[in-house]
Amino acid sequence: MSVKPDTKPAKCPSCKKAAATKFAPFCSAGCKDRDLLQWLDGGYRLPGPMALSDEDDAPPQYDDGDG
Ligand SMILES: [Zn+2]
Repeated sequence: MSVKPDTKPAKCPSCKKAAATKFAPFCSAGCKDRDLLQWLDGGYRLPGPMALSDEDDAPPQYDDGDG
């Protein structure tokens, strides 16, 4: 019984290099993360910082003590 590769090596959709079986269909974990981040950036947005209030804080007043 001879086993031949059923699937031909795919190309990394990120950098077009030969994909690695471990990271298929990408060539490396880096490309995999990059691709993931791309669609994450398009669909899901990270929660931004809360809107800061625009009121000014009065400077602390120092007591002159016995002047
Ligand atoms: Zn790649």
